[in-house]
Amino acid sequence: MSKLKISLLAVLIFILSAAVSASAEQMMLEYDGALHLYDGDVYNLVVNNHEIYTPMKPIEFNDRALVPVREVFEELGASVYYNDSNQTVEISSDDTDILMTINNNIAYVNGVRTAIPDNVVPKLIAKAGESEKTMVPVRFISESIGMNVEFDGDLKTIFINSEHNSSAANSSAAVKSYITAVEPIVTDDNHVQIKITASGNVSGYSAFDLRDPGRIVVDLPSFGVMNVAENIAVNKSGVSTVRVGVTPERARVVIDADAASYNVNAVSDNELIIDIVSKVNPVVNVETQVAAAVTDPSAPAGSKLVVLDAGHGGQDSGAIGSLNGETILEKDLALSITLKTKEILENNGCSVMLTRSDDTFKTLQERPEMANNANAAVFVSIHINSVDNVPTANGTEVYYAETNNGNAYGATSSNLAENILERMIANMNSTNREVKTAQHAVTRLSKMPAALAEVGFITNDEELRNMASSDYQYKTAQGIAEGIMMTLENITVPQQ
Ligand SMILES: [Zn+2]
Repeated sequence: MSKLKISLLAVLIFILSAAVSASAEQMMLEYDGALHLYDGDVYNLVVNNHEIYTPMKPIEFNDRALVPVREVFEELGASVYYNDSNQTVEISSDDTDILMTINNNIAYVNGVRTAIPDNVVPKLIAKAGESEKTMVPVRFISESIGMNVEFDGDLKTIFINSEHNSSAANSSAAVKSYITAVEPIVTDDNHVQIKITASGNVSGYSAFDLRDPGRIVVDLPSFGVMNVAENIAVNKSGVSTVRVGVTPERARVVIDADAASYNVNAVSDNELIIDIVSKVNPVVNVETQVAAAVTDPSAPAGSKLVVLDAGHGGQDSGAIGSLNGETILEKDLALSITLKTKEILENNGCSVMLTRSDDTFKTLQERPEMANNANAAVFVSIHINSVDNVPTANGTEVYYAETNNGNAYGATSSNLAENILERMIANMNSTNREVKTAQHAVTRLSKMPAALAEVGFITNDEELRNMASSDYQYKTAQGIAEGIMMTLENITVPQQ
């Protein structure tokens, strides 16, 4: 009787991520010297049970999944060198040396000439405004380098493991132990524990977490599930549901939780407790709420409308930082600074429109379109910078797109960028990284003078601590507002 139940469970497909909405994401990608709209699937990346956070997540290219090679190999302990002059990428670890050339289908794996599968060549691809990543087909990693690659379409996740999991590889591995109970225990307002009880030893568990939406995943290899509901509602302290599923290889428990942190402990041979601290009382001043609605763009004739664009939002978190163990997202910092800039501009009699006033997603095309439709005088996008592996990188830079307009408004995008940077540095006292040009979609597609400010580096501890403080956010906002107001004096908005 119980045998029948088990075999039925074993063939159940994963229904684990019912909460995950479509992961297709619209974004602008820069490669081969041009910007391209990407609206295919975007995957999470988990390497040896660690989720890898990179602005350039795995994507599909010519129907093949591409993964960022540096992130994968650095997680595996290898060193990755990029040589700009001959466009080669070299990956070296104790037992592997791989040499690849950008846009070239031939790689050398431990000196052996190897064709990259599917005729997909390594490419330098950047999410607009972020740094370039070398992307290679995931099949190359699995076939040439002998790593175990697994897709989970429901979790929209690519798993890469440096060692073949023998129990997973051997599908005839008999299920010997079962999860027999999964119980949520609410301990206080911002604490939930999930207790997993099993019939066998649970010490071989593994755990990782995923974002957007937040999930904690606990796997028990070679375990089955016995008499446990597939969906357990919790709805307390940031934990919504616990989902329990099984494949021939493992039992998997997925906890839908907006967690600040979590811990998994084997409290006895057959009991696991996942301790989840919910995201409450953030220690830093990252405001994502705004009472005021978007300012009416039908401002009186003669007044000049300022459009402020808080970078990223919704499912697009932008760059990710960590301060005192707490995760800080670029989208939240950008919004907080944008709201303060709006407040200062309005106190000085300016009309301001926001492309987003809360944590919502807007495409890179919608943002300049709002400014164009409202016949705005200036467009200013606010972002936080990041760079991999250079924790000392710091400072403020402002971008404009050379092609976005001439001098039809009496001032150029270059004037706007110069003014904003000069006033930001004067108010913030940060390192001046100069005005730069780039083909960001938001500045390029705006008809009016447009600039994109990178306030500072979320990857620099000191700068992140500053940017998370209300005081520094006001200094930043003051600088941006002063630069805008200086430029507005010279702007005449052409009649539509
Ligand atoms: Zn950004």
